[in-house]
Amino acid sequence: MSSHHFSIEFFPPKTPEACERLRETRRQLYQLSPEYFSVTRGAGGSTSEGTQDVALEIHNEGQRAAPHVTCIGTTREMIREKIMDYKSKGIRHLVALRGDLPSAYGVLGEFHYANELVEFVRAETGDWFYMDVAAYPEMHPQAKSPQDDLDNFVRKINAGADAAITQYFYNPDAYFRFVENVQAQGVNVPIIAGIMPITNYASLARFSDTCGAEIPRWIRLKLESYGDDLESIREFGLDVVTRLCEHLLGGGAPGFHFYSLNQAAPVEALCERLRQSGYRT
Ligand code: FAD
Repeated sequence: MSSHHFSIEFFPPKTPEACERLRETRRQLYQLSPEYFSVTRGAGGSTSEGTQDVALEIHNEGQRAAPHVTCIGTTREMIREKIMDYKSKGIRHLVALRGDLPSAYGVLGEFHYANELVEFVRAETGDWFYMDVAAYPEMHPQAKSPQDDLDNFVRKINAGADAAITQYFYNPDAYFRFVENVQAQGVNVPIIAGIMPITNYASLARFSDTCGAEIPRWIRLKLESYGDDLESIREFGLDVVTRLCEHLLGGGAPGFHFYSLNQAAPVEALCERLRQSGYRT
């Protein structure tokens, strides 16, 4: 029984009460000993300061923190300042992204794509940071074609990224095919499967529509049929996602990055189920 990659993502809370709740969530999840905790940036209106505050708390609690850095709408000087600040505080891991901005921002800023950010961070800080980038087994929603998206992904890795975390997905074949296609281009970095626990149907459906993740029809119909019965949604969701994880590990995936949505229970439940099946995260 070998052990697999395992990391957890948080978003920066917006109120002092939510910050306190996240501290409690972290205390619970530290028991699971993941390799690192990443902290999103910008998504949902969070600020760079929120990301930094949470990442530094995690770092000061003796855990490995990986703040997300987004580059769209920023300048080289702003990114330089941010990464030098992280470096001076002992942070060694970043998730490097383009990010999304409202279309009103147009093309303001000195970066257009994540590969430019990766290249810049490497040029400025050498090997100081371990750098993850995003991958889309079901294609990034704005990509011209799957092949174009794949080429862009490979460009991002060749710019100096160490590993990738995927957008969440419920179609394991999309993941396996993506990994095969990447490897066929001679690229062999770990592609960690992003896993979104299913705990609430309405918000998952809304979010999936915009981010390029498909909820397969059979899962959608089943979830819809539960209506407001959250307990059944959770139970079915746990079953589906546990099997997805087993399938992924069985097919050679290096491990998981859990989108926790700042909740401990769904991640704990999944890890427990995987342990029962003989997998060690
Ligand atoms: P890129 O890799 O730059 O790709 C964006 C699009 O441009 C793709 O369609 C790609 O095919 C195309 N492209 C890429 N490079 C080129 C090029 N050189 N020339 C032409 N076309 C190109 N968003 C946030 O705001 N904050 C977060 O913290 C955050 N965390 C995330 C974490 C993960 C693991 C994932 C999967 C996504 C996250 N996102 C986050 C969402 C992400 O910012 C969006 O999906 C964004 O639209 C793309 O970011 P990217 O880094 O993948 O972009």
